[in-house]
Amino acid sequence: MTDILRTEDLKIYYGQNEAVKGVDLSFSESSVTALIGPSGCGKSTFLRALNRMNDEIPGSRMTGNIWIDGRNINAPETDVTVLRQKIGMVWQRPNPFYKSIYANIAFGPRYHGIRNKAQLDEIVEDSLRKAALWDEVKDRLHSSALSLSGGQQQRLCIARALSVQPKILLLDEPASALDPVSTSKIEETILQLKEQLCIVIVTHNMQQAARISGHTAYFYMGKLIEYDETEKIFTNPS
Ligand code: ADP
Ligand code: ADP
Repeated sequence: MTDILRTEDLKIYYGQNEAVKGVDLSFSESSVTALIGPSGCGKSTFLRALNRMNDEIPGSRMTGNIWIDGRNINAPETDVTVLRQKIGMVWQRPNPFYKSIYANIAFGPRYHGIRNKAQLDEIVEDSLRKAALWDEVKDRLHSSALSLSGGQQQRLCIARALSVQPKILLLDEPASALDPVSTSKIEETILQLKEQLCIVIVTHNMQQAARISGHTAYFYMGKLIEYDETEKIFTNPS
């Protein structure tokens, strides 16, 4: 399988604190990789770096390479807007815009210049279907996103991320603020998306990692300690 994303000796600092200490990891197309490890071990920092989100944190800097489709995106000339079109991101807490369901999803495509209503309608429906939310909201697309339950809002955020057709989807503990039913819906959605995307998910939930990921990367104090097929990680007694 082709690696679409690869980090090479990636180091990330917050001031003097080296939060990620030289990580080499590869991610292939059509895969789900779980990043696990104790709180504070650098999982979120690593994940956010893949989208250059760390740029926005004052005092944070990063060295090493991040290859996406053969290009190093940790370079000054990288257009972060273009990058984020290739990489969708979903955060721990659902953060829909204070707009309608429709507008949340049409936002990205509109930003990228799509104005045709029929085309936007199609993108909205397709994104909502992929996030397993269409049936629940098709009759109220123009209601506020905030009228949805927490779990629905999180699936809306997944749909919003998918609306610009990214190749990579980054998920930072997307279900940890949700109830068990919403959590399993999110997991089902992730499994359905797996065929089309490279998915990287931070989770502190080992059972979740075992249920949804093909590979698992175990971080400890900023280092990648173990990386293998998830099945092997969870059956290896050592
Ligand atoms: P997580 O749930 O991923 O372990 P935390 O709950 O520790 O994250 O942190 C929540 C938020 O606070 C994150 O956005 C993280 O970047 C930020 N944060 C964590 N540690 C610090 C710190 N020492 N200084 C400033 N912000 C921090
Ligand atoms: P995890 O996601 O594994 O819980 P994080 O990536 O949130 O770990 O944190 C890794 C280290 O970086 C911790 O020491 C944390 O305090 C620090 N850190 C995280 N976010 C920030 C931030 N925004 N500012 C300063 N330090 C941070």
